[in-house]
Amino acid sequence: MPIETVAVIGAGTMGNGIVHVFAQHGYAVTMIDVRDDLLESARATIAKNMDRQINKGALTQEQKAEALGRVTTSSELRAAESADLVIEAASENRDLKFQLFRELDAVVPESAVLATNTSSISITEIAARTSRPEQVIGMHFMNPVPVMQLVEVIRGLATSDETARVVLAVAEGLGKTVAEAQDYPGFVSNRILMPMINEAVFCLMEGVAERDAIDTVMKLGMNHPLGPLALADLIGLDTCLAIMQVLHDGLGDDKYRPCPLLRKYVAAGKLGRKSGEGFYTY
Ligand code: NAD
Repeated sequence: MPIETVAVIGAGTMGNGIVHVFAQHGYAVTMIDVRDDLLESARATIAKNMDRQINKGALTQEQKAEALGRVTTSSELRAAESADLVIEAASENRDLKFQLFRELDAVVPESAVLATNTSSISITEIAARTSRPEQVIGMHFMNPVPVMQLVEVIRGLATSDETARVVLAVAEGLGKTVAEAQDYPGFVSNRILMPMINEAVFCLMEGVAERDAIDTVMKLGMNHPLGPLALADLIGLDTCLAIMQVLHDGLGDDKYRPCPLLRKYVAAGKLGRKSGEGFYTY
């Protein structure tokens, strides 16, 4: 089935990046979130990030205008009704995603593929909320989406070969490289990354080192482009906590317990870049 029209649910950190990349590659995109002000600020973020590409010579003013012209916005889920492919990038919350997939299943065409950008929640469980589990798949983009090369593709228990083929082709058409993973908590990316970030927060909490020293050790010592605390701020501390909880619940091993200091930052509303303050101030 040709994919021409895409709907993205959630216009936050990931959603606006996913919309950016699809619009830049010629797709008509409907960006959906719960409030108009969130949609306006997502559109402004996309425009600002496209300006960066223009400054680097990777995009022209004309291409930017064309891409933005392909993006429509709505605060109603039914605006996804003509989508060939839906990518859900709403907050990392099981019940929210289950409800969204139930509703999407009733709204979109029978032939549409339903993908989720979840970082850790079971694709099989999400798919079970729909009447088309064979057309549900994990399409896990990395942050920042316009910059990062990888898309981790995760099949649920029922995902068909055809659905996987369509999604792989779409990801490659966006210039991305795909790695496939099985449906276990956190897949590959967050099974490995998030415990490292969580351990960095334990180091901070226990006074093993100051924030800057922790990030410097991992940057200069391990050649990571960002230290784990700066990366946590980029990801969003609420998202990091939600992923740790999925790993802890799903794998049942205490080594995945979320650090109390991470919980405390989230409780205080210090969510990282998106709230203006996390381990660093923005
Ligand atoms: P975010 O908090 O920045 O944005 C989430 C957005 O979802 C918000 O704008 C919120 O208003 C919207 N939303 C909530 N309920 C909604 C609903 N019912 N309908 C439509 N929109 C709704 O979160 P994010 O970082 O963009 O994460 C989104 C998804 O992507 C999560 O599943 C997360 O695990 C995953 N992810 C995040 C990262 C990252 O680095 N932040 C990387 C890869 C994947």
